Amino acid sequence: MEFETRAIHDGQEPDPSTGAILTPIYATSTYVQDEVGKHKGYEYSRTGNPTRTALQECLASLENAKHGLAFASGLAASDAVLRLLLPGDHIVIPDDAYGGTYRLVARVFEPAGFPYSPVDMTSLDALASAWRDETKLVWIESPTNPMLTVVDIAAIASFAHERGALCVVDNTFATPYLQQPISLGADIVVHSTTKYLGGHSDVVGGFVALNDEERAARLAFLQNAVGAVPSPFDCWLVLRGVRTLAIRMEKHCANARAVVDLLLDHPAVDRVLYPGLPEHLGHDVATKQMRDFGGMVSFTCHGGEEAALRVAAATKLFALAESLGAVESLIEHPAKMTHASAADSPLAVDPALIRLSVGIEAASDLVDDLKQALDTIG
Ligand SMILES: *Cc1c(COP(=O)(O)O)cnc(C)c1O
Repeated sequence: MEFETRAIHDGQEPDPSTGAILTPIYATSTYVQDEVGKHKGYEYSRTGNPTRTALQECLASLENAKHGLAFASGLAASDAVLRLLLPGDHIVIPDDAYGGTYRLVARVFEPAGFPYSPVDMTSLDALASAWRDETKLVWIESPTNPMLTVVDIAAIASFAHERGALCVVDNTFATPYLQQPISLGADIVVHSTTKYLGGHSDVVGGFVALNDEERAARLAFLQNAVGAVPSPFDCWLVLRGVRTLAIRMEKHCANARAVVDLLLDHPAVDRVLYPGLPEHLGHDVATKQMRDFGGMVSFTCHGGEEAALRVAAATKLFALAESLGAVESLIEHPAKMTHASAADSPLAVDPALIRLSVGIEAASDLVDDLKQALDTIG
């Protein structure tokens, strides 16, 4: 069945005991057993919960994956995936990785004996020169945060596989509606469901999807053994968000195009970063591996950091906030906000950069708001 249909129906059978059309929030920590060891598939809610099962089945289906595991946050999901490695294994991450992923790799895993290299993944040559005998995992984001760099997932996955490494894709920015990394050859997909999948700024969550049976079993072990699991209510919120993912993504993409048109026209704007622009370096790859170009737009203004901070403070509808991917539009200054922890690292971002998460309000209202904010700097 098609994506839109699977988003609404997969994993979500009517409740067998009442006929309730929606999967209930199973707010229970434990489950009654008929006799010792004889139960209906659930024993304790860290290990398993029916609301979580519904979410896991639905999201795995949307990623064209056999297995799915939900976590308490995107970083908890990333942490579980990195725990598939053994000390000494070398990790390659994008040189403009999500700030929290960079911090997890550089400040949690590296000190525990997992060396890493930040690499410009748009270049297979750069990937080849960073490669070591111990390289066991290549982490991809596409489009990246906040530079919206697009990398060739199929090419990097086969490069990694030829050398015996795993290819992991953080698919948070694209969502499975726009891009399905497992179908492109990636081994594992990671999500922050906090963003587009939840889509309403009301929940923090994470997700991992994959096909490999053994690794899925190890991840399920880690989910239970480490215990960073989402509550039944949080699972239910993400499920509710996912039901409208397709229609929301269509509107995010259309509104982003309207915003990009304004930015291209406005004299205060210097560079516009959006994979949908033909001059964007990753445009051809994006056209090949994505259905559309997403709702994230980054740009710089003439006048550097000072101008950027003024624009970020001057919008009224675009709220000044971290995070992204929800129905309401957000504006932020990566150098001082989401990427502040990368300030003195190779991942530091241009202080003139502004990032927009374009919501699903009326395009005309978004364009008017951004225009009045840009007019304040000329
Ligand atoms: C937000 C985000 C994460 C981390 O997710 P949390 O839910 O905040 O832990 C990881 N990757 C990307 C691309 C993100 O935007």
